[in-house]
Amino acid sequence: MTAIQDSGRLAHIVFQNAAEGIAITDPQGRILAVNGAFTTLTGYPAGDVVGHTPAILRSGRHGREFYARMWLALRDEGRWQGEIWNRRKNGEIYPEWLSISTVRDATGDVLHYVGVFTDISRIMEEQVKLRDLAYHDPLTRLPNRMLLRDRFEQAARRSLRDARQLAVLMVEITPQGKVPNDPFLIAASERLATHLRETDTFARYGENEFLVLIEGINGPRDASVTADQLLKALEKPLAVDDLDVYAGANIGISLYPMDGYTLDDLATAADAAMLQARGQQRRGFHFYSAEMTAFANERATIERQLRRAIADGALELHFQPQFDVSGDSVVGVEALARWTDPELGIVEPERFIPIAEDNGLIHPLGEWVMRKAFTQFISWQAAGVAPPVLSLNISARQLERVDFADSVAALIAETGISPQSLEFEFRESVLSDVAYVVPALETLDRMGIRLSIDGFGTGFSPLGNLKTLPISKLNIDRSFVSGIGSNRTNDTIVRTVLGVARTLGLRVIAEGVETEDQAVFLRDQGCDEFQGHLYGQAVSGEDFVRRFARPRN
Ligand code: C2E
Ligand code: CA
Ligand code: CA
Repeated sequence: MTAIQDSGRLAHIVFQNAAEGIAITDPQGRILAVNGAFTTLTGYPAGDVVGHTPAILRSGRHGREFYARMWLALRDEGRWQGEIWNRRKNGEIYPEWLSISTVRDATGDVLHYVGVFTDISRIMEEQVKLRDLAYHDPLTRLPNRMLLRDRFEQAARRSLRDARQLAVLMVEITPQGKVPNDPFLIAASERLATHLRETDTFARYGENEFLVLIEGINGPRDASVTADQLLKALEKPLAVDDLDVYAGANIGISLYPMDGYTLDDLATAADAAMLQARGQQRRGFHFYSAEMTAFANERATIERQLRRAIADGALELHFQPQFDVSGDSVVGVEALARWTDPELGIVEPERFIPIAEDNGLIHPLGEWVMRKAFTQFISWQAAGVAPPVLSLNISARQLERVDFADSVAALIAETGISPQSLEFEFRESVLSDVAYVVPALETLDRMGIRLSIDGFGTGFSPLGNLKTLPISKLNIDRSFVSGIGSNRTNDTIVRTVLGVARTLGLRVIAEGVETEDQAVFLRDQGCDEFQGHLYGQAVSGEDFVRRFARPRN
């Protein structure tokens, strides 16, 4: 066998066994031969195509120009390659990667065209999948920020054209109680999705933040309707790992083009509005306004400075006396955090405590308050001037830490204070998050610490829980006390609270008592203790001893 015959045989073996489909044509483009892979990929046996041109494979997806360019390249460069859609014998259209070479003889005349192709439909599918991954949040399958940006650009153009507005809703959703966040987010996003229109874009924006883009609205009212619907949708519990979980939700709203031209600006604005909503209630929405930018900036400053103040021990504690209804003897003392910042001046606890609750600073802050108050109280006891009870404000957030009771026990051991002289005040909201606070409250109760509900009457908490939780005292909120005598509803509320307390066998302290008339009304209604400016404001530890301490014997 000659070398040429050898190479011919080799070529034949390669031709037949190649994974790529191969077709060889004559100079006119008529097919002379195809290999096995060609038949596998196209479904055409050699007998069906030999003598025909590859036009038999055309999918109809490319126009005449496409093929004209291909022939031009073959003539001028001797080669063409690219992506082309063809049709299999069974009618299925598929993409292939095709490269065609021209084979010429010694004089330069075309002998053959050889087309080699691979089926790239799998690769294309992967590409689509990749694109899908790149544009969607893997957890919730919702559009991610990238896709959102794309949709925003289109929506913004449409809204300018149609002279309609575009609303950006920043929705923050948090589970109440301890549940794994991922399944919670999936359940929450599925619930919300069912309350949105097809034309709304619903995207995952941050860990617990979702962004809704609403097109074609006529003003803030339309946006607030959607916000309302979303909040309502989350009122019923979500099923997460077989548990019924309630979701807290706050929504901030900004509008295009008034509040910003870019998605980033609108999202920042909506975020600021969301923080505002969160500062006001457990679930609600708020519109962005320019003042809110200032608010957000101030908040950032407070966060930074508060962190420093806690680390430097720059906070202070003030103490306010609690009296029996005769107004003669001090029955307790409430410790209240005070903060004067070198940059911001006096910052009210009502401003910095919610921020500390949001960012977790409440934990070190709460620990500092406890240590400081316990130590102070012990020194008063040593001097024989301590009132019977030390009251502290404890945030529900602190109870979320499973080791909270342990850390209290450790501080009790460290300072030597008796748990029987301690009272912890919780805001009314603990009553609605019962599932996860019960164990903590019960442990504190077993330790001998008394528990009370602060600001009673201001929330919408299920009162039934008062019966099941180890609560011994209610604290009527200042807002009701200040309204005494000025409106009937208010008086009814105060009477009702006192009635509830009596039924449940709870003690009641009225807070913010400023006038003799208020004191008389409360005393008549059966209130047990008073606290307020009529009896004494919160003052430094030294002043407290000077003004309110009676040596006990
Ligand atoms: P609160 O526990 O209900 O505290 C009572 C608030 O009413 C105190 O305000 C007190 O100074 C004020 N007050 C008492 N009597 C009167 C009165 O007759 N008239 C008026 N107008 N006000 C009166 P403050 O100290 O600004 O504290 C506000 C809230 O901040 C507290 O409400 C409490 O919820 C929270 N807070 C304060 N310190 C702490 C703390 O150490 N930890 C936690 N978690 N919260 C704290
Ligand atoms: Ca309190
Ligand atoms: Ca109070």
